[in-house]
This record gives sequence, structure tokens and C-alpha cells, in this order.
Amino acid sequence: MKAAEASAMIEWLVEMGADEIIGDRPVNRLVAPKPEPEARKPAPAPILRPQTVVGEFRGGPLPTQAPGTSDAAQMAAECGTLAEIEQALMRFDACPLKKTATNLCFADGNPDAQVMLIGEAPGRDEDIQGKPFVGRSGQLLDRMLQAIGLSRRGEAPETSVYISNVIFWRPPGNRTPTDQETLMCLPFLKRAIEIKQPRLLVCLGATPTQRLIGRSEGILKLRGRWFDFAAGERSIPLLATLHPAYLLRQPAQKRLAWRDFLSLKQKLNSDAH
Ligand code: URA
Repeated sequence: MKAAEASAMIEWLVEMGADEIIGDRPVNRLVAPKPEPEARKPAPAPILRPQTVVGEFRGGPLPTQAPGTSDAAQMAAECGTLAEIEQALMRFDACPLKKTATNLCFADGNPDAQVMLIGEAPGRDEDIQGKPFVGRSGQLLDRMLQAIGLSRRGEAPETSVYISNVIFWRPPGNRTPTDQETLMCLPFLKRAIEIKQPRLLVCLGATPTQRLIGRSEGILKLRGRWFDFAAGERSIPLLATLHPAYLLRQPAQKRLAWRDFLSLKQKLNSDAH
């Protein structure tokens, strides 16, 4: 292969999201592996993670426990401020995603904002900058927020937002996080909501919506509806809407997201606080 061809192939792989080295040798998955002689076959590896993956629920109960999640729950419960959650995540080494990620990506925006937005997981740009929603999806999100008078850079609680994700480290190649990885991050997110006590929550896409309201329907069924999220003593209204990455792929669906954002604006303006 010529250098220019190799370089074009690498660029294409990076464009497709395969920009992490996760093994020492290349694997050609187009060639069927040679069967091993019976005697040398290793014992089957124990299955360490549940088979269901986030974002692909097909009904049935949502799993709530996976190995390593009780440590996460205990560490999260001990935090009393958002800064302590971020510090706890820096110490927390059980989540496999931390090994391949460049940076922890915890939150951005105004911690005093009335609205808290929750996405799925950091992508490449977020991993580099250590902040959620700074890539193309984030730019679209910023424009959508601006259209209803909100901004992550705003100083007033009523016109600003705080943004976080269900997952705090980038899954390699943007793959779907496993249940185990998700359940390890979730206690930190829930504790952050409890500490921050936003007036309103907005879930961007299926993953945060399903994880926070405990339902398995698809986002097109759940979007546009208000649910209640129990955060300590309080119940926080939670709006489910479409993920900006989905809107970039399906621009015609922006009209649905626009309806949802108008509902958010109306709720912010109308409810006495
Ligand atoms: N998509 C997300 O869900 N979160 C980010 O931070 C970026 C893209």
C-alpha cells in the first residue's frame, strides 16, 4: 500500500470514529478466524458484562445493577458539592472507559442554572476538551437554546443552562456504552442532580431519558412529554426530547425538537418558582 493510500485510509477510519488504539496488533475482521485445534482451545472467557446495551432496549425490565456499581454509588453518596463529584470521578478507576479516554468530561455551563440538560456520552471533541457538547451536536444544541433565550454562558439562573451526560468518559470509537459502564456513571449523575436541584431537567435522546425515568420505550414515543424525576425530597419535571446528533442526521425532525423546546420555554416562563 502506498503512503498516500495508507494516510487516506487512516483519515477515513478517524472520520468513522475509529480513532483509538485498543489493541497492539491490527485485526482483519473480514477474514474468518482459523478454528483452533480442539486440545488447544482455551476455556470460554467468563461473560463480564450484560448483553443488553444502552440505547437498544427492546422492552423488558431495565437492569439496575452490574459489577462495580456499588462502589460508584458509595462514592457518589459521599459527595456534597458538584466539585466533589468531579473530584470523585477523577479518583474513580473502576470504569473501563477511563482507560481509553483522554479527559474526564463532567459538565459545562452555569451550575446555578434553572435548566439542566443531560446527553449520552462524550464524543471525540468532548474527549479532547473535557467538556460536554462542544462538537457539531453541541453547536446545534447551542443554537437551539439560543432560539429560546437560553445559553450555557449565561450568568442569570433563569437564562442559562448546565449540561452533563450519563457517561463521563468517551467510549472508544463512539461505541454504545455497556450497561456496566452506564451503571457505574449513573450514581454520579443522579447525585449531581440531587445536589444541583435544577428547576427543570431536559434529557437529550433515548439513553438519558430511559435511564432517568426507568422506561424502555423509544425516544420518538417519549419525546415531548414531561415526566417526574425524584431528586431527594423534590420531584423535578423532566422533558424528553431528541438528541442533536439525531437531528443532524434527520434534519426534518427538527420541527419536533422545536416543539419540545417551545414547551420548555413555556414551562420556564409559566410555572411559579
Ligand atoms: N453527544 C452527547 O450525548 N454528549 C456530548 O457531550 C456530546 C455529544
